[in-house]
Amino acid sequence: MQAPACSAPQPSLHDAQGRAIAYLRVALTDRCNFRCTYCSPSDNEPPEGLLTRPELARLFALFASAGVRRIRLTGGEPTLRRDVVEIVRDAAATPGIEDVALTTNGHRLDELVGPLLEAGLGSLNVSLDTLVPEKLPGVSGRGARLDRILAGIDAAAGRFRSLKLNTVVMRGVNEDELAALVRHAWDRGALPRFIEQMPFTGGEVVPLAEVRARLVAAGFSLRPDPFRGWGPARHVRATEPGGREGLIGLIGAMTENFCEDCNRARVAADGGFQACLGGTERLSLRDLMRGGAPDAALALAVRGALLRKAPRHRMDEAGSGLVLLPMRGIGG
Ligand code: SF4
Repeated sequence: MQAPACSAPQPSLHDAQGRAIAYLRVALTDRCNFRCTYCSPSDNEPPEGLLTRPELARLFALFASAGVRRIRLTGGEPTLRRDVVEIVRDAAATPGIEDVALTTNGHRLDELVGPLLEAGLGSLNVSLDTLVPEKLPGVSGRGARLDRILAGIDAAAGRFRSLKLNTVVMRGVNEDELAALVRHAWDRGALPRFIEQMPFTGGEVVPLAEVRARLVAAGFSLRPDPFRGWGPARHVRATEPGGREGLIGLIGAMTENFCEDCNRARVAADGGFQACLGGTERLSLRDLMRGGAPDAALALAVRGALLRKAPRHRMDEAGSGLVLLPMRGIGG
């Protein structure tokens, strides 16, 4: 989904580089029923530490009034929250918000597609790291069931403004499945996306250059495509041997930096505002709210944090000594 022409009030949230922040990613929980090797989930934040539905609605309104126009709900696994559908409804009903998106591991998707659509969800990303059932436990833990993920994707196909299937490419795990993953997505009208692994839990990076080379070796012809969505993905238009063509999204945090036109910030499951995924600063909006701070004070604190945001992440700087805040609870 392309960022639409602006009908809402001009974004007024800018970071230190003057980049307008129009896209907020909000983690609803750090809990997850999967244990993906590239994410390091473990259930840390006690339930009372998570933002409540009214607190989330307050933050949606606060950021929307400052020009945020898209909210993505993440986790951990956001569908583990019993009130996830109501939270989607609150986000979609927030004046100024033009798109509500959700990222899920797909486990509960089959049963939630209808209620999420009815609540106003526009865009959906589903993690799909392999099509081989025997591989999944090694990637996402014993709780992961491929049949449920695939059933959820089939239930969602063709029903949302945007459906993207995200694959973290892992050495020795799924780099041999790239062509099959593309076809699986195209068969369902979805956008396949390949993501370089980020160093939250170590792991060898499979560079996008190799991803492209493997797709070409599988018979696809590739050419750059100008399509841009809200996020960091760059796209290629691919044509497979039989002539079918479509888009493929590529997200290269480690070898093809995308920070120059960053438009986003995050709220973590513990209510911490994090200006950059690769940042090490988190400002507790939860504690400010529970301490009785008015919206003006929250907005001031957020602007201050954005003015301390670095031009780019440093996750690709080997030996930088960078200690990243955990991926879980920030939702990527
Ligand atoms: S790593 Fe930070 S600066 Fe770069 S795109 Fe992500 S949030 Fe923006």
